Amino acid sequence: MQEIALIGSTGSIGTQALDVVRAFPQFFRVSALTAHHNLARLRAQADEFRPRVIGISDVDLYPQAKELFSDVQLLMGEDAHELALEASGASIACIAVVGFAGLKPLLKCIDLGQKACVANKESIVCGGAAVRKKLREKNAQIYPVDSEHSAIFQCLQGERSDFRRILLTCSGGPFRTWSKADIAQATVEQALRHPKWNMGQKITIDSATLANKGLEVLEARWLFDAQLNQIDVLIHPQSVIHSMVEYKDRSVLAQLGNPDMRLPIQYAFGYPERLPGGPEPLDFVSLGTMTFEKPDTDRFPCLALAYEAGRLGGIAPVAFNAANDLAVQAFIRGRLSFYQISDIIEKALQHFGGGEEPDVDTIFAIDAQARAYIQTIL
Ligand code: NDP
Ligand code: MG
Repeated sequence: MQEIALIGSTGSIGTQALDVVRAFPQFFRVSALTAHHNLARLRAQADEFRPRVIGISDVDLYPQAKELFSDVQLLMGEDAHELALEASGASIACIAVVGFAGLKPLLKCIDLGQKACVANKESIVCGGAAVRKKLREKNAQIYPVDSEHSAIFQCLQGERSDFRRILLTCSGGPFRTWSKADIAQATVEQALRHPKWNMGQKITIDSATLANKGLEVLEARWLFDAQLNQIDVLIHPQSVIHSMVEYKDRSVLAQLGNPDMRLPIQYAFGYPERLPGGPEPLDFVSLGTMTFEKPDTDRFPCLALAYEAGRLGGIAPVAFNAANDLAVQAFIRGRLSFYQISDIIEKALQHFGGGEEPDVDTIFAIDAQARAYIQTIL
């Protein structure tokens, strides 16, 4: 029996991670659940999974939370996620919060020697070399939950040779077939209607702009020690091939499955074993065809900007992430148009540039500076 600390349990990944625990009660038990402010959902989850520890990071909720969670160890405050990881005694940490807030819990679980099952891509993109350094020091590794990175990780298993190329697949999002003029007018509601995946709001907008794929390119670079020019994005609207790896003999390995995040979550939790049973099996005959397209960076400039951030290196990915985060929030509130998201990212990259690979303190400082700068241009 392994215990899991689920950081960000109330979100899309968090609730699906609990589906996995529910499906394999013989293997997993939840010892900590954390969230930011959704107390009602957290309470319902606590009733079902009976964790040892609850963590809540929204400091304004203290009186309410104290009353609601009087039957369990309650940790409150900005560092509630890290405190919960520590108090959980868990051997597995699942980092499922959204945004830059994932970086501290990621660093913490590596320090604690917990198995880091990471959905939060922003922490890997921003943490970059500093996270890699910590992993080396602790002789640890990240078990990716992001479906593409789980696919790549699976395609790398047992291989002794270096890969030539990573083929990162992408559904293309809701605007794949739209003209640039139509995309320019896209509403929040249209951007939130993802054709293949049901996810949290931020990543759904990122999937419409392809900033999500851009973040994934930067994530793959660190996870698999790849050069930027070894990572190609391939539009694959059926979302059945979750990514591929090409080896030096030009042989290509792919991982396939129905689009269901519970599969990569289950793989990360169970690794190195494959757990018996999972989502609906893939039916190739009813699938019929699989198609592929080249991404169009003219209609989706966020993807090109992510490569640019990767080329600049240093603090550029931190600036990219902060700019994208704030621009997406402003777009959701109706304060920016669709293409103003990429305009803001471009301005942030021009302002901050690249430079040396930052240490952890610098990463937090640059994130704060980038947010302050972007607020002024918003
Ligand atoms: P959701 O928005 O659905 O959930 C976010 C979770 O983070 C919630 O538990 C939320 O708590 C918590 N949270 C929100 N704000 C903060 C904060 N400031 N500090 C700490 N915790 C916070 O997101 P998703 O589940 O969609 O995504 C989570 C991560 O996984 C993202 O990094 C995303 O890119 C990645 N990912 C998601 C996929 C998906 O299918 N959803 C696929 C691949 C990767 P509360 O509910 O209380 O606000
Ligand atoms: Mg993904």
